[in-house]
Amino acid sequence: GADRTKNVLILMSDTGGGHRASAEAIRDAFKMEYGDQYRIFVKDVWKEYTGWPLNDMENQYKFMVKHVQLWSVAFHGTSPRWIHGVYLAAIAAFYAKEVEAGLMEYKPDIIISVHPLMQHIPLLVLKWQGLQKKVIFVTVITDLNTCHRTWFHPGVKRCYCPSEEVSKRALLDGLEQNQVRVFGLPVRPSFARAVLNKDDLRVELELDPVLPAVLLMGGGEGMGPVKKTAKALAESLFDKETGKPFGQMVVICGRNKALASSLESLEWKIPVKIRGFETQMEKWMGACDCIITKAGPGTIAEALIRGLPIILNDYIPGQEKGNVPYVVGNGAGVFTRSPKETARIVAGWFSTNSDELKKMSENSLKLAQPEAVFDIVRDIHDLAGQRGPLADVPYVLTSSFTNLI
Ligand code: UDP
Repeated sequence: GADRTKNVLILMSDTGGGHRASAEAIRDAFKMEYGDQYRIFVKDVWKEYTGWPLNDMENQYKFMVKHVQLWSVAFHGTSPRWIHGVYLAAIAAFYAKEVEAGLMEYKPDIIISVHPLMQHIPLLVLKWQGLQKKVIFVTVITDLNTCHRTWFHPGVKRCYCPSEEVSKRALLDGLEQNQVRVFGLPVRPSFARAVLNKDDLRVELELDPVLPAVLLMGGGEGMGPVKKTAKALAESLFDKETGKPFGQMVVICGRNKALASSLESLEWKIPVKIRGFETQMEKWMGACDCIITKAGPGTIAEALIRGLPIILNDYIPGQEKGNVPYVVGNGAGVFTRSPKETARIVAGWFSTNSDELKKMSENSLKLAQPEAVFDIVRDIHDLAGQRGPLADVPYVLTSSFTNLI
């Protein structure tokens, strides 16, 4: 009947930290809004059900973004639809059975893709199964501006765009207006809904209660010039005349263990906290006064919600490039690749230039879209309501369809 718990399958991949964070944001928002009405599965179907190259995207991505030229070629070279279309269809054919088994195991009523490479193959599988009309397939784009074209697939029910810039690209790429919605980038409800007090957080996180604090990070993988910047900050936030620090620093290294241990081996003149992969980013951001990061969309969206001025010090070519004008153009931060310049700016913000810090913090808050994730799940819920009960969906594994191709 209509009250049957509906299954939602969220397709993601651990390339970077952003896709998982978005997937978890959607899952948590579903739980908060609709409780038991939905059963949510967050899955990396590629990793669990296929072979190379799909099961190894994490490592390929890590390798490529470390060699930015390679990533740049891969990103732009695969942009034309006929190239990625043919490539992905070939892979789909090769792994069809495995992907089908992976998708169908969860008997999804709704499939949500938060990854640029998870449109074509799942949609082909649904088509082969004759399920494309029965299962609601939506894409949630997690790049703020210059995203890859594989995000846009005309076969989706909805394409949720985080910004007007992305929705323009979607329409140019052939999606219809009625498929496109612009609510913002989904950020974990723990960011949107938490009422956090900076003083309390500083006690909880064992930070200095009064010194202004800068948060330094580089996405889920701890990328960018983190170490050099940390060293430069330790110099710039130390007042040689009084022999005292006038700022403190938190460095979150994510999964980059080598970075964390190399930073821990150094001596610091200012109070420093060095952390690995943190699960409560909203607290660390809430305890700090500004952030330095590569231009990752997840980190940017979260920092905006916390009203943090942002220094962008790096970006991954392609999908992250457009995040720079998004932040800088809206007055929420600055871009510089130079660790020395970064350190100089923060020292200014924490002393003579505090007006700029305040102004940028206000601009950050103006850009923030904390409700985006709730708008997205409400819209999906409405779609599911229109579709009615799906209890009769015939989930049988057809071994014959693979013969068709
Ligand atoms: N993140 C986290 N813990 C960490 C480091 C990062 O939860 O220790 C999260 C961060 O809050 C953000 C995501 O990982 O939600 C990083 O996404 P982003 O889009 O900024 O960059 P990516 O890592 O995907 O390149």
